[in-house]
Amino acid sequence: MDEAGEQAKVRVLLLEDSPQDAELVANRLERAGLPLEMYPAHDRASYYGQLGARQYDLILADYALPDFDGLAALEAARALDPHLPFVFISGRVGEEVAIESLQRGATDYVLKQRMERLVPAVKRALKEADEHARRRHVEQSFRESEARFLHVINALPQMVWISAPDGELTYTNKAWLEHVPPKTRTWLDPGLIHPDERAGCAASWERSLARHTSFSCECRMMRRDGGGYRWQLVRMVPLLGSLARDGEPCVEWLGTATDLQEQKLHEEALRTAETLAVSGRMMASIAHEINNPLESLINLIFLARLESQENPRALAYLDMSENELERVSTITKQTLQFYRDPATPTEIDGRSILEDVLRLFSTRLTARAVRVELTAEKNVVLTANRGEIRQVLINLVGNAIDAVSRGGTVCLSAKQVAGQRRETGASAGGTMSEMVEFVVCDNGVGLAEEKAERLFQPFFSTKGAHGTGLGLWVSKGIVEKHGGSISLVTEPGEGGKWTTATVLLPRDAVDELHAGQGGA
Ligand code: ADP
Ligand code: MG
Repeated sequence: MDEAGEQAKVRVLLLEDSPQDAELVANRLERAGLPLEMYPAHDRASYYGQLGARQYDLILADYALPDFDGLAALEAARALDPHLPFVFISGRVGEEVAIESLQRGATDYVLKQRMERLVPAVKRALKEADEHARRRHVEQSFRESEARFLHVINALPQMVWISAPDGELTYTNKAWLEHVPPKTRTWLDPGLIHPDERAGCAASWERSLARHTSFSCECRMMRRDGGGYRWQLVRMVPLLGSLARDGEPCVEWLGTATDLQEQKLHEEALRTAETLAVSGRMMASIAHEINNPLESLINLIFLARLESQENPRALAYLDMSENELERVSTITKQTLQFYRDPATPTEIDGRSILEDVLRLFSTRLTARAVRVELTAEKNVVLTANRGEIRQVLINLVGNAIDAVSRGGTVCLSAKQVAGQRRETGASAGGTMSEMVEFVVCDNGVGLAEEKAERLFQPFFSTKGAHGTGLGLWVSKGIVEKHGGSISLVTEPGEGGKWTTATVLLPRDAVDELHAGQGGA
């Protein structure tokens, strides 16, 4: 029924062969003040005609007509609209007739002998029809909202499920079906949750089952089709309120799992970086502590040698001890180099510092017949801590020589380029400026990619007892302190392939060095 008030008339189809009876019915309804619009029909043909002509709010029909049967009229009306109220008005007395008509779906049955029942029957039929229509409307919008809700849940990247207290799943969304391994029965399935986190999750679940509180746990969940484990944040919330009847324990739990994998990897990387920084600092302080007894040891060996002139075996042992001590000494010096107070920056000539470094290695280079190519433009100058830059180049050239076998080649170059200064505490953002580029390359053994990732970590060395694994780590620290960058491109295979170490330094690193001093 329309709610627009008086204009909304109730359309009634009245099937009645007797004109007097029809008049009587219309009169009664009119007197009751119902806002009706009557459409009369008196036989089969006119009934079907009217029925097809428009929509009605109510049908009133005589039970028996000369050429027509009231039940057939009812059937035709029901076929058109199963919810349309249909009331019989009949002169025929008999319970069976009334019962049959109601059984066949009539709304009510009024006897012509008791016409005072007509108006209440019509009112009730209209009211019921109205209520039905409202209910259908509510149901329809409920279905629509449920469909929309499911649509949203299925569009979520998170896995969503509803679980009974025993863990049995009563609902799972699309993401769940896509991601969990087939045959997963509960959210705590041993095939789903990583064994390391299963007990913890189960304990949280038990606790909140007892208290009806929500909980979260982090765990790795297995992906279907060999996707491996991924970290998830699982959250379980009891569905209380309307869904669990008053006083009864809650019957269902809503679970969600949000992927944490990327976040976890990030945290892990941060932790590793922190550990490395801490171990670096620790190492520096240990190196510092070792330095003093080291000096004493070297002096003691010197004295012991004086006392052992007559004993060649003791002298040989002392030589060996001295060699080993030399190694320890190198390690501590390299470590301390990075942390030592910076010397005053001075102007450095690119070519001359490279020549200087080569001179240091001249014996080793000749002994292994390594070919050296030095190319450096004229007037490549930079302002930096000479001792530290020298240390960096010594480390790189030393590595290059270690990498080549007899007759290999090591190339050195220095040139001026335009490049990005590294961000430091004082100068925000990388700025373009004049830089000096040192390159050290060799055609030696190179290094496999998976190992190359660790080149700049302290203690990473492939040289066994001959390596400390500190050269590149220390070099990186020095170069970055100067606002520069260092990289090493390598691949395994001797001869044809080149390993290239590149150091980029600002032409004038004074600002960076002062900033570093202030911060330290
Ligand atoms: P160390 O030389 O004491 O091992 P470094 O920090 O100088 O320590 O170098 C770390 C590792 O990096 C070396 O052990 C080596 O495996 C690799 N590496 C460095 N430079 C080269 C190079 N030019 N060619 C091949 N591998 C290199
Ligand atoms: Mg080295």
